Amino acid sequence: MSYEVALKCRECGRKFELLAIYSCEFCFGPLEVDYDYKQIKLNTSKKSIENGPESLWRYASLLPCDPEYKVDIGAGFTPLIKSKKLAEHLGMKNLWIKNDTANPTWSFKDRVVSMAIARARQFGYQDLACASTGNLANSVSAHAAKANMRALVFMPDDLESGKVIGSSIYNPILTMIDGNYDDVNRVCTELAASNDWAFVNINMRPYYAEGSRTLAFEVAEQLGWRAPDHCVVPMASGSLFTKIWKGFNEIRNIGLIKDLNTRMSGAQASGCSPISTAFKNGSVNFIPQKPKTIARSLAIGNPADGYYALKVMEETNGAAEMASDEEIVDGIKLLAESEGIFAETAGGVSVACLKKLVASGVINTDEETVLFITGAGLKTIEAVKDEMNPPIMIPPNAEEFMAEFNKLG
Ligand SMILES: *Cc1c(COP(=O)(O)O)cnc(C)c1O
Ligand SMILES: [Zn+2]
Repeated sequence: MSYEVALKCRECGRKFELLAIYSCEFCFGPLEVDYDYKQIKLNTSKKSIENGPESLWRYASLLPCDPEYKVDIGAGFTPLIKSKKLAEHLGMKNLWIKNDTANPTWSFKDRVVSMAIARARQFGYQDLACASTGNLANSVSAHAAKANMRALVFMPDDLESGKVIGSSIYNPILTMIDGNYDDVNRVCTELAASNDWAFVNINMRPYYAEGSRTLAFEVAEQLGWRAPDHCVVPMASGSLFTKIWKGFNEIRNIGLIKDLNTRMSGAQASGCSPISTAFKNGSVNFIPQKPKTIARSLAIGNPADGYYALKVMEETNGAAEMASDEEIVDGIKLLAESEGIFAETAGGVSVACLKKLVASGVINTDEETVLFITGAGLKTIEAVKDEMNPPIMIPPNAEEFMAEFNKLG
């Protein structure tokens, strides 16, 4: 069963039918899925969830689509790992890492695509499309392949080869556009208006975005049904950030967790930091930027949910930080060497920003903090390949190895 009842305008509150639409026809505000929370509460318990599948479908009663239409390649229910070395390095007493590199296409985007494709199938679409900064195209291509749908994925032409091959292997119609993500998004919005395609992050966006709430559900469940003191989340459009907060509120409201005092802090790259810059300027209105950063998965200069992300920071007494390319690389290496997790550039942004938030005292060293690592490092090897110790190169001879080994000291 699923309990979505309407689409609701986030600005004026008007309600609309559950259709393939994404903005309010009165005020142009973004639409969001509204649920019958009474029914959800009646039909959802810790026990019913705990007995569910080990994927995000364990939260089916909280999701905006009929699970009958799901395309399950194993998204969600990723590990929440207690940090020891990274926590010590940062001087923190209580740090967790939500490792979303463990998803089927190695990023959190499998969560949002799971919602969009189920809804698209429910609406009867044959074609699944997206405007992508890389990871979304990977996930759309993989899920469409599994569902026997045609995939049309659009991305900027300057992405890492891991992101390109990570899509093309599933044989989508892959288009690379000579422009940045905001250009890609503009082209796709035009294509969405004139074609009968399910664009996961355009006409499916209200459903798509809901998938990110599963990160909040999982973190709460994995902590023994409670919310942490602080979350540090990477931001591109800001959707993930706002939806994690929405997710915690929903499970508090239906009684799955008792208290909710979580502070929400966001992380961006300095080279594309419209949301973090606005936060630092004390404003809830951001100024769009032209991205120039190695964190290409976060390179959205005109973030659709930027305003709402800033409101969440205000509401939760959270904050925002930004990291330079060099700090991003250091963050990737620090996470790998301290926790054995190889993250992509967005993960480097998260680690670097966490470090700054702790150093500046915004995050108290005893606040229980969850760091969200949203994508895997093999997709962005360009960022780190010249930054590591070179391998020892020897002929096939043990003495040669010992000679080199003894030089290491
Ligand atoms: C897309 C993406 C994000 C954040 O996306 P939002 O647009 O803010 O929801 C974070 N990390 C990675 C790796 C991503 O691909
Ligand atoms: Zn409206």
